[in-house]
Amino acid sequence: MNYADNLLAIETRIAAACQRVGRSRKSVELLAVSKGQPPQAIRALSEEGLILFGENKVQEAKAKISSCPSHLKWHMIGHLQSNKCRDAVMLFDFIQGVDGFELAQELEKWAQKLGRTKKVFLEVNVGGEGSKYGLAPADVVPTLLRVNDLPHLEVHGLMTIAPYSPDPEQARKFFRKMHECKSACEVALGVPLPHLSMGMSGDFEVAIEEGATLIRIGTALFGPRSITKTLNEFRSQELD
Ligand SMILES: *Cc1c(COP(=O)(O)O)cnc(C)c1O
Repeated sequence: MNYADNLLAIETRIAAACQRVGRSRKSVELLAVSKGQPPQAIRALSEEGLILFGENKVQEAKAKISSCPSHLKWHMIGHLQSNKCRDAVMLFDFIQGVDGFELAQELEKWAQKLGRTKKVFLEVNVGGEGSKYGLAPADVVPTLLRVNDLPHLEVHGLMTIAPYSPDPEQARKFFRKMHECKSACEVALGVPLPHLSMGMSGDFEVAIEEGATLIRIGTALFGPRSITKTLNEFRSQELD
């Protein structure tokens, strides 16, 4: 896998999407989604200058993060169970995927115990799909105001996974709705929210055109993933 070439191709597409809508390239951050990828691949991309990495399972992150360069910043992008909150607060710099006040309270409890402040993103189920986690758009502002009152959590933005379609144009209306949702949050809070996390390998250009500030790219950077294979490889290396 030539990670440098993959990154260059993605960078070119990000720059073109920014240019189409008159945005600065600096207004979009690239989060490399490293779930199902071994630490060697993460190191290779970090050597190309990437700093932000995302994992969707606490267990997998625990096995990998300590063997990755220490200057990297880690985002939890998956669904978080309340019994994993302690580890998540320990391991991750940012926790996306906060989909309810109860989960926020559990994170608050551990952030307080561990003496940290955590940056979190509220996850929005923008397509209203039964198969997805996330707040209904109408619940975002009320939840945001409650989470924002928790002293050890800082709401850093909103995140969503748009309903899947092979045609990225189909995601545009959902991304647009997320942008409106972010604006409503900013009105309610009276301050800007730093991030709108949306757009993946298949739809990130449309997401940028609709206001994404953080795009989460996995396969287009790393190539296909194989969680069990990579974890087993990783474990056998640890035993060597
Ligand atoms: C896996 C994943 C991604 C990246 O998906 P790709 O299609 O591989 O780019 C982004 N966001 C979340 C929440 C994910 O779980």
